[in-house]
Amino acid sequence: MPDTLNPVELLAQKPLVMRRIGNRDLDQIVVVAGDQVGFDHLRCIPSKALIHAADAFHTANCQREAAPFGLSVKGIELDFARTVAWKDSIVTRLTGGVAGLLKKSGVSIISGTAEILDGKTVKVETADTTERVRARHLVLATGSLPQTLPTLPFGGNVISSTELLSLRERPRRLVVVGGGYIGLELGIAFAKLGSEVTVVEADERILPRWDAALTRPVARRLEDLKVGVITAAYARGLTRGEEGLLIEQRGHPPREIPADKILVAVGREPCTKGFGLERLDLAMEGKFVKIDRRCETSMLNVWAIGDLTGEPMLAHRAMAQGAMVAEIVAGQRRVFDAVAIPSVCFTDPEVISVGYTPEQAKAEGLDITVTTFPFAANGRALTQMNEEGFVRIVARADDHLVLGGQAVGAGVSELTSSLALAIEMGAVLEDVAGTIGAHPTRSEAIHEAAFGALGRGLHI
Ligand code: NAD
Repeated sequence: MPDTLNPVELLAQKPLVMRRIGNRDLDQIVVVAGDQVGFDHLRCIPSKALIHAADAFHTANCQREAAPFGLSVKGIELDFARTVAWKDSIVTRLTGGVAGLLKKSGVSIISGTAEILDGKTVKVETADTTERVRARHLVLATGSLPQTLPTLPFGGNVISSTELLSLRERPRRLVVVGGGYIGLELGIAFAKLGSEVTVVEADERILPRWDAALTRPVARRLEDLKVGVITAAYARGLTRGEEGLLIEQRGHPPREIPADKILVAVGREPCTKGFGLERLDLAMEGKFVKIDRRCETSMLNVWAIGDLTGEPMLAHRAMAQGAMVAEIVAGQRRVFDAVAIPSVCFTDPEVISVGYTPEQAKAEGLDITVTTFPFAANGRALTQMNEEGFVRIVARADDHLVLGGQAVGAGVSELTSSLALAIEMGAVLEDVAGTIGAHPTRSEAIHEAAFGALGRGLHI
């Protein structure tokens, strides 16, 4: 039973932190992972793999029906078991890669269930032993878990996104409770794979966290894909016989929706239970662990990163926080002062937001200029036969400082880094307009929106 004082203990599955610390020549590092190394970091990957496969299948089917490019496609079959195996192979490749990188950086890994004993001691139950690990620094990165509904607990046909992504067969009828990020990303993917999908959303519209202009193209696409959308509706439980979902929609009598599987995607909550966190008696901020700008908790040398520390619950925020904590522990002076953390909804079409939305800027009393550029005027979008959507740029009216950018359209997730870079570098509209981008690309729409804001629109 080792009882030495290691420099850092990471309680979770955020291996990037350890790699960064490992690179800084601290002598001994220990990662405690409940499951595979990097499991949490790679949770996003399986859904994106499935979204891609679903898109390929759907595109092939569209060619068969309409042959817009003159392609003749016959006999399209989907071997769902192979799709899932392909998705799993990507996860295995990435987790294997992360484990290899950790090893190369001199990080020791203990696979087991951890329990905090005090701010410097963690007990780990592994498959065959119990170890006690002591550390000068403790990094909490336990992430989040899917929120449950009291009326619809997980079990049987009521499943979370993790289980949906591990099914070996496509459900014939899938009901999705929650029309947010996860519900729509996966609902759209399964509709393209051939499931009959119905989304039940409590709010008046889908994606209520996003502004209506950005979500309208997604609503239209749901209609095209024949996804049923029932808004202003709550899940009330399983029907008798458990073959469907009982819902209550405002202004309507309760009704039943037949379902083979019911995905509950109504948000996530921080994972704060079951590993002795209460022994530290840390200051909390609601359900989340309270941190300062260095990600330090109320206890000296106890750090927390990621979903455990609040919104936005996004992997890239967690990674940036983790890398920063690693540098602080290694002796650098750092604070977390990201100006813009991009949000992406990998629906069809994709939706992104970086920095301020017009509403957020106005709420802060800023005098702004807002300009949009439609993909219908973008050559690349036309060549891809997908001209739905637009790019929007938000800038300060007086000095033209770029405050934010949003977009909806095919592949717009790839535009997030240019927008984030512009905002992080303090670019003004003239900088964005004056930067030469490649033609023909979808990213030209950002450039065009900036020109538009300066009253010098090129293609509109
Ligand atoms: P979400 O908050 O985006 O959506 C949950 C939806 O469920 C909301 O629209 C809400 O109104 C609805 N809802 C709540 N209770 C309901 C009920 N009883 N009946 C019907 N609808 C109900 O949450 P999510 O989609 O579960 O995602 C969780 C977190 O994961 C998000 O905070 C997000 O930050 C993160 N995430 C990010 C991405 C991404 O960046 N691409 C993708 C997936 C998830």
